[in-house]
Amino acid sequence: MIDTERFGCMAFNDKAMRKALPQEVYQSLQQTIRQGTSLDPEIADDVAEAMKKWAVEHGATHYTHWFQPMTGVTAEKHDSFLSVDEDGKPILEFSGSELIKGEPDASSFPSGGLRATFEARGYTTWDPTSYAFIKDDTLCIPTAFCTYSGYALDKKTPLLRSMDALSKQAVRVLRTLGDETTSRVFPSVGVEQEYFLIDKELFSKRKDLVYAGRTLFGTSARKEQELDDHYFGAFRQRVSSFMKDLDESLWDLGVYAKTEHNEVAPAQYELAMIYSTANIAVDHNQICMEVMQKVADRNGLVCLLHEKPFAGVNGSGKHNNWSLTTDNGKNLLAPGDTPSENELFLLFLTAMIRAVDMYQGLIRLSVASAGNDHRLGANEAPPAILSIFLGEELTDILESLEQETPYTGSERTEMRLGVRILPRFPKDSTDRNRTSPVAFNGNRFEFRMPGSSDSLGEINTVINAAVADSLSVYGDRLEKADDPHEELFELIREEYRAHKRIVFNGNGYERSWVLEAERRGLSNLGTTPDCMDVLLDEKNRDMLKSMGVYADPEMVARHEILSDIYCNTVFIEARTMIDMAHRQILPAIGKYLGEVAYSTNMKKQLIPQLECGYEESLVTSLTESMNRIDSAVRDLEDSLFEASGIKQGNTLSLFLRDNVISRMGRLRKEADEAEKKTAEGYWPFPEYGDLFYGF
Ligand code: ADP
Ligand code: MG
Repeated sequence: MIDTERFGCMAFNDKAMRKALPQEVYQSLQQTIRQGTSLDPEIADDVAEAMKKWAVEHGATHYTHWFQPMTGVTAEKHDSFLSVDEDGKPILEFSGSELIKGEPDASSFPSGGLRATFEARGYTTWDPTSYAFIKDDTLCIPTAFCTYSGYALDKKTPLLRSMDALSKQAVRVLRTLGDETTSRVFPSVGVEQEYFLIDKELFSKRKDLVYAGRTLFGTSARKEQELDDHYFGAFRQRVSSFMKDLDESLWDLGVYAKTEHNEVAPAQYELAMIYSTANIAVDHNQICMEVMQKVADRNGLVCLLHEKPFAGVNGSGKHNNWSLTTDNGKNLLAPGDTPSENELFLLFLTAMIRAVDMYQGLIRLSVASAGNDHRLGANEAPPAILSIFLGEELTDILESLEQETPYTGSERTEMRLGVRILPRFPKDSTDRNRTSPVAFNGNRFEFRMPGSSDSLGEINTVINAAVADSLSVYGDRLEKADDPHEELFELIREEYRAHKRIVFNGNGYERSWVLEAERRGLSNLGTTPDCMDVLLDEKNRDMLKSMGVYADPEMVARHEILSDIYCNTVFIEARTMIDMAHRQILPAIGKYLGEVAYSTNMKKQLIPQLECGYEESLVTSLTESMNRIDSAVRDLEDSLFEASGIKQGNTLSLFLRDNVISRMGRLRKEADEAEKKTAEGYWPFPEYGDLFYGF
């Protein structure tokens, strides 16, 4: 049960602010939050004082600027409220300037050369639009993280910039069509997060899980996915206490966690959060990932957020549901009932179609990681090829608009073109497509490519910027038109024609789609190294710059960091595999082999004429396996050695993908074969079956 009184009790939310702040201060802060105006420095001290008082009352002893460096994981630097007054007496202090600005030791966060090139220090600035919250007795203040000259070192700053750009362009378009009241437009985002839960003790026995977050060895468990009863099945006791604990922890923080059920794979679950403004949704998703891991830990579990923890079992992603809301509360992607609403809806829909088509590469890049490479295109997640699912009805409407033929798909209305009368759209376009990377869901777009460990900052930044770019082009055109309403239809027609290649309602898992997409000229960036050059592309850079989202050096920095993280991930995985193979797997097989050989030998000594065919072939086969594993390890070591001579960057990431990762695959195959032949009890770490069903 949600206790509505208690909900958000650990967040300095609207309710807390209203109570804690003097009336004028509250109103001024609201103005900043709602209108995106800059904070009145005069009120900073008052806000800080009230926030500190509230935090201390709720048990906080420290505060921290909570931010999201480009690693995608959140970071904090804790300071105590404790100070001393002139008489040496301890007092609790927190000033406006401490609230607004902090200087974390930035040197340990990746900057992609930004700090080295520009200046040494990075600093954090308060984002008043996202509520501060208390976690582990610490007041966490959501902040942006920049260099001294304002270059973004984090994922929040570009997101906030993209939201501004989007609002500006959307309002401009609305004005041309006669909307005089909307003053801001926000992207609304609802997140669905998938994850695995496994037993903590079993987890700690596997170095691959500990170091890499995924299993690097392991053959399929006997049961696995065919066990449909797992889906929506009864939660096991520990999992349900985890869920309860998680819900309560998140609700206290003001995070609207909603549904939880078992996913397709064994031990996999999902959590959905009720949608909110993009930057809050992104912050909340970060908080959520952190809280999930903590809550799992105290329930004797480990929460795996890796995209592909187990081979042969569905991986985890997250869905980013995206729509556009005006400050009057209207969803611009809701088809609505009246023609004028339809007209707006179609325009914003077209803006998205254009955005996804033109910036396929940027969207793909925004979800690129070594982990997600195992997922995208693996027939369990959308393919690495971008496309949009609109559903038959909506596609028919756009088709008939483009071809200027009457729309006959719906029995209820017939569309007469040129005249601004459009059919009433189906309230609930229920035809669901699970294979599309971007699916229209009746009143929002669902982006399904993000990996489960991704920060959603980046993909939302790109969507916002790309849609803002579409709207800026449309705004230019509508502003010049004599009759913007007539012009709008011409525009939709032309735009749909130009970008409809991105619309695909079929099955994205089919091989034929890859060929069809290629024929349509869509890009297919299968792996992270394939995406590296997207940020060097002129068209992409120009758009991001003109929307004010990224400056040139920031793009270079991001490019560098993505490549570094990719390379480091592969190095860690490869080294872990070598270690496990040499020090755990080979000795384990050796031990079993030795015992079989010994007992066979004993039997033969006892009864020389005895046939020991089974044992002999087992000894032979295990010996061969060991040799092949050893050779695969050496091969992997050689290619790692070669890699260590290559400078970090594109060449290295390509080398790792083409040489190291394929050798890791070979080593795994050999070891997994041996696992099947080795008697139970000898294998040196928990097997898949133990992980899924052993607790
Ligand atoms: P389903 O189970 O059909 O996927 P849900 O109702 O569970 O749908 O919603 C999935 C996610 O979509 C939730 O996070 C929800 O808050 C979000 N969502 C719903 N409406 C919108 C909207 N207009 N804009 C953005 N997100 C939305
Ligand atoms: Mg969904």
